[in-house]
Amino acid sequence: MAYIEMKNSTKLYHMGSTTITANDNVSFTIEQGELAIILGASGAGKSTVLNILGGMDANTSGQVIIDGKDISNYTPKQLTAYRRTDIGFVFQFYNLVANLTARENVELASQIVPDAQDARQALADVGLADRVDNFPAQLSGGEQQRVAIVRALAMSPSILFFDEPTSALDPELTGEILEVIRLLADDHMTMVIVTHEMSFARAISNRVIFMADGYIVEEGAPEQIFERPTQERTKQFLAHYQ
Ligand code: ADP
Ligand code: MG
Repeated sequence: MAYIEMKNSTKLYHMGSTTITANDNVSFTIEQGELAIILGASGAGKSTVLNILGGMDANTSGQVIIDGKDISNYTPKQLTAYRRTDIGFVFQFYNLVANLTARENVELASQIVPDAQDARQALADVGLADRVDNFPAQLSGGEQQRVAIVRALAMSPSILFFDEPTSALDPELTGEILEVIRLLADDHMTMVIVTHEMSFARAISNRVIFMADGYIVEEGAPEQIFERPTQERTKQFLAHYQ
């Protein structure tokens, strides 16, 4: 059985009298230790997939199996425990607490689990040894995002989700985040990443899922998707990044 499996997952949003199909019968698997990339234009349904996998949103129908358990059947209490202890989430805009230092932001996450890593050491591990007592406003975007990654790691999660982690960063700061993700990949951390960094995705991922209009157009190994896409939709999308 795969470590992560979405099976015929559909997510509908009801907005007054209209229904938006954010995810349309999405099915895929990800193995333990794999790094999967989700590609697609804005509105394709990428964040919806991540939010459902991360237990922040519930699907309308279908199964979401994580390590043998179907989290789509979880009670709110079980979902809270899952979000706190099993997974880590990194967002585009860091979401650090503004009036807490880098170390305090990490410790805040650590407080809810007994065996959390030492915050100071964990920040030093991503090159922030001399920034631990700075507030978010005193840090660059790249530094703030590294704090956010350390915070996500504080609970020793089994899976990390990243939703466009470098989209708010200048190109020169993007590299330092990708480097941290690269180190996590070397450690065989299971990761699902939404990104538009194509050469990074091509180089580092095990699996690429391309979405449009809420469904999976095509998925496969990075070599296949980037060099031999079979769907016209995939070819058109990738052409924008050449
Ligand atoms: P992506 O991350 O690929 O840009 P999303 O998963 O955020 O796409 O959104 C997919 C579709 O679902 C979009 O049409 C979006 O407007 C819609 N959507 C996402 N979240 C909500 C929500 N909370 N309420 C209503 N519609 C939503
Ligand atoms: Mg999104």
